Amino acid sequence: YNDPSQKIDFVFKVVLIGDSAVGKSQILARFARNEFSLDSKATIGVEFQTRTLVIQHKYRAVTSAYYRGAVGAMLVYDITKRQTFDHIPRWLEELRNHADKNIVIILVGNKSDLEDQRVVSTEDAKEFAQTEGLFFLETSALESTNVEDAFLTVLTEIFRIVN
Ligand code: GDP
Repeated sequence: YNDPSQKIDFVFKVVLIGDSAVGKSQILARFARNEFSLDSKATIGVEFQTRTLVIQHKYRAVTSAYYRGAVGAMLVYDITKRQTFDHIPRWLEELRNHADKNIVIILVGNKSDLEDQRVVSTEDAKEFAQTEGLFFLETSALESTNVEDAFLTVLTEIFRIVN
């Protein structure tokens, strides 16, 4: 960690929330194997220490300490489980009650590889995201589709704001 080329210029806390089993830990695991550069000068680091919390705690059990200092959030649902999408407004409310008001939020419809089991349409989710002013992407942690893009979307926006 004394190697200057490995220097981390920014550390942003990004939280992943959503119902159990939507794929939060798999998304994180997928992302953690990669490194990102938003420009030639900046290497972006993401804090992973709250990972176990997000896995263990269910809806409404997440404490405000979890959100403290978070500048980005991924609101994750499973495109094959209607209930996980129906709960998104509650997660959003919790986020807006506990997190910084300027937090950058992306709505993430995970498991896009299971197209044959899809019950939440892309259009519905896109419309919800637009109404609520959220970024939106569908991902597959399994196939590694859009996982980088989802983090980059959040981090790029955060980066834009802090600069
Ligand atoms: P969490 O409770 O939100 O952290 O969910 P997990 O990351 O533990 O994932 C729950 C289950 O969904 C596990 O069996 C994963 O292997 C599976 N899973 C996660 N992401 C995907 C995905 O993109 N596609 C598919 N098909 N399964 C996934």
